[in-house]
Amino acid sequence: MAIKMKQEISAPGYAGKFTFERSADPKPKPDPNTLKFGQTFSDHMFIMEYSEGRGWHGGRIVPYGPIALDPAAAVLHYGQEMFEGMKAYRAQDGRVLLFRPGKNAERVANSCDRICIPRLDDGLFVAAVKAIVDVERGWIPEKEGTSLYIRPFIFADEPFLGVHAARHYLFVIICSPVGPYYDTPGGGLSPTNIYVEREYVRAAPGGTGFAKVGGNYAGSLKAQATAAERGCEQVLWLDAVERKYVEEIGTSNAFFVVGGEAVTAPLAGTILPGVTRDSVITLLKKWDIPVSERRLTIDDVFAAGRDGSLQEIFASGTAAVISPVGKLVSADGTLTVGGGSVGPLAQRLYDALYGIQTGRLTDELGWTVTV
Ligand SMILES: *Cc1c(COP(=O)(O)O)cnc(C)c1O
Repeated sequence: MAIKMKQEISAPGYAGKFTFERSADPKPKPDPNTLKFGQTFSDHMFIMEYSEGRGWHGGRIVPYGPIALDPAAAVLHYGQEMFEGMKAYRAQDGRVLLFRPGKNAERVANSCDRICIPRLDDGLFVAAVKAIVDVERGWIPEKEGTSLYIRPFIFADEPFLGVHAARHYLFVIICSPVGPYYDTPGGGLSPTNIYVEREYVRAAPGGTGFAKVGGNYAGSLKAQATAAERGCEQVLWLDAVERKYVEEIGTSNAFFVVGGEAVTAPLAGTILPGVTRDSVITLLKKWDIPVSERRLTIDDVFAAGRDGSLQEIFASGTAAVISPVGKLVSADGTLTVGGGSVGPLAQRLYDALYGIQTGRLTDELGWTVTV
């Protein structure tokens, strides 16, 4: 019989310490050839709590398992919850790499602030991510296109039915080995169909669009269902006020390449500031390819499609890295983008980002962090 052992582990970058209780019955690792997104979870999870007066405390890595919640827990009623999405990659030389985790930490601070979750101590977020990834390094699959998806989240577990910021929270990190986003042989890019959503909106000015909070996603499911009925993988969101400016594609940022210039919506409150989006902009600038953060109307996109100046559309986000768009489906008709095939810029960006993330290309920008 295995003996449960509790040990202290240090967390570089954070003044405190975490404890570690090893799982007594580790699970078998899944077949790397049939991995789906977000269905299998590793042996352990990170958990830490906040209470008024004590602040964030009790950081620990424990066996993965259910969390008991009071039925009155605030998150179940008013959705006070935020989350993050990151990946750990295994490089060919065996190193375990995170991609720009400091950017996720910055976003955690902004998401928490927007929905009144008390901020995490400096360095705590990245230290916690590194600690759980270090424990779960055996769960990072090695096959081309696979990685360990990391899902940190914070929610209000105080049992109280009044609408106010809670006084007790849990910060949890779970890990899931994931396969390539595409089923294409070799995990290569494949063009998607995107539905232009004109009835529902994702985020309004003054709302929570810039924050990665759970509440933004429940409201998007209905549009996603309509898109699926029309044979589309995702929706293209338009702005909530004039319903004409392109904003995001599903849960990814969107880029439109028109007349040699890549255009993406500006970060003006309704757009989620993607780490991949920022990395795309940085690479394009480095390559001397014109890129601008400005508003672009859906009519201009269709007009550019008709006059031949629309070269590519692609989405950017942690899950798929870069996802090219082959078709835009709208009430006004269907627009085939770039002949319906994978655009050269989408491919170049994917190769560069994935190459850096997996340590195959030199990380000139200092984006990777070794665990
Ligand atoms: C997470 C997310 C993104 C992409 O952010 P990355 O940091 O690049 O993964 C874009 N839009 C929305 C709505 C998101 O939730």
